[in-house]
Amino acid sequence: MALVISNSGTRTLLQSAIIFFAAVAPLAAQGIPPNPTPAQANPSPLADTEALSREALVWLAQLIQINTTNPPGNEQAAAKYIAGILEREGITPELLEVAPGRSAVVARLRSSAISDPSRALLLVAHMDVVGAERARWTVDPFGAVMKDGYMYGRGALDDKSMLAANLATIIALKRSSGRLNRDVIFLATDDEEAGGDASIRTLIAKNWDKFAAGYALNEGGEVISKGGKVQYVAVQASEKVSVNVALIAKGPSGHASIPTKNNAVVHLAAAVAKIGAYSAPVHFNTVVRRYFEGLAAVSDDEIAKWMRSLDTTDRGEHAQRFISDANPQWSSMMHDTIAPTMLSAGVRANVIPGEARAMLNIRLLPGDTIDVLLGALSKLVNDPQVRFEVQPNAGLAAPTSSLESDLYAVISKVASQEFGGAPVLPYQSPWATDSSQLRLHNVQAYGLWPFPVTDEDLARMHGDDERLSVASFNKGVAVLLHIVSDFAVTK
Ligand SMILES: [Zn+2]
Repeated sequence: MALVISNSGTRTLLQSAIIFFAAVAPLAAQGIPPNPTPAQANPSPLADTEALSREALVWLAQLIQINTTNPPGNEQAAAKYIAGILEREGITPELLEVAPGRSAVVARLRSSAISDPSRALLLVAHMDVVGAERARWTVDPFGAVMKDGYMYGRGALDDKSMLAANLATIIALKRSSGRLNRDVIFLATDDEEAGGDASIRTLIAKNWDKFAAGYALNEGGEVISKGGKVQYVAVQASEKVSVNVALIAKGPSGHASIPTKNNAVVHLAAAVAKIGAYSAPVHFNTVVRRYFEGLAAVSDDEIAKWMRSLDTTDRGEHAQRFISDANPQWSSMMHDTIAPTMLSAGVRANVIPGEARAMLNIRLLPGDTIDVLLGALSKLVNDPQVRFEVQPNAGLAAPTSSLESDLYAVISKVASQEFGGAPVLPYQSPWATDSSQLRLHNVQAYGLWPFPVTDEDLARMHGDDERLSVASFNKGVAVLLHIVSDFAVTK
């Protein structure tokens, strides 16, 4: 049932309108009512979340059909599409041009004539997606194909579902007659996946006054479901810091028929092997401690026992090894990690090169510094022919968002209520999101990705056949709206 549309990212509004109507047919054929009549003004924004989710599902499908593969991104087409929806609802959008062909969209619901940025809530999601290898998918990655109750498409998980849910939330608040006690700001960003010139860093530098806020909800967390039941809700409050380091070995170049012991390739390979086997020391912070405490409550007895022993003096070391070996993601929450990702050396098969290089992608725990880690690695490698070179554009360590804030309390309460009493855990993600840039600007930003998914589906993020079940999408829309209403609407 895939609807094949032009792959070109740049579209006029007229073309977007054609796509908008063209896309309706296959969705309707699949049982999704096309653009149902918007609900009339309700006293509560939570009055009819089912009708709202049906509308939002159409927005999700149409956002997937707008190809925003980054690079080049071409997010402007998605930005114009979103602006059109907001305009129809009487919400004034503003397009902020970040780079040619790349615009962010910002829109605001005001609580009073004078805004108080320190109280404002920012709903942020990115419009760009990572590339898709079409040949490896069973459906068109940009077709928004419905199959077995799932919406398939690049961005179905990351991050167009969140984008559509944020859009649904601000629209539901606007349609309702509930009174806001703080400004609610919608922001759709560019270039999150590449973190380049068009990313939130530039947006903040150029336009911070347009979306300055004290609180933010963004991607980065997860709701893990097992056997049809939500096991736990992870709310991202902190994230690791990405730094690329080049490992460079030098040696004399020469004829390959007369090899010597100081061959740069041999020295580089030895250094990479040592680094690959290295495990950085364990460091805990409050977020990670509380994550494992909470996770222990829903884990098998054996795992739970070691999770509870992680921070003890007598059994701590053994527990840290056991938990790290049990799950690489758990390991990454406790250690700085180093992943060699690229290798290069040589130009001819019969020439010993004078230089060999490896790229190391390092993820630092928020409190750790690259100098300390490289000090330990230099000692380990212990080779005067090998040196480390920190690459530009390293991430910046951001403060952790508070686990005592009003917003965190609302998220915990509502998420637990909505997901059958499942524990809500603070989470430190191994990956980076736009939230670190917000946290550096004093924003209490939380990664709340409200759609319940299995580990199997989550593994498709950035992979093949990315998909989200319609039931999960609907639930996520309702949960997000519930949280935002509790936080921002006067009771
Ligand atoms: Zn994302």
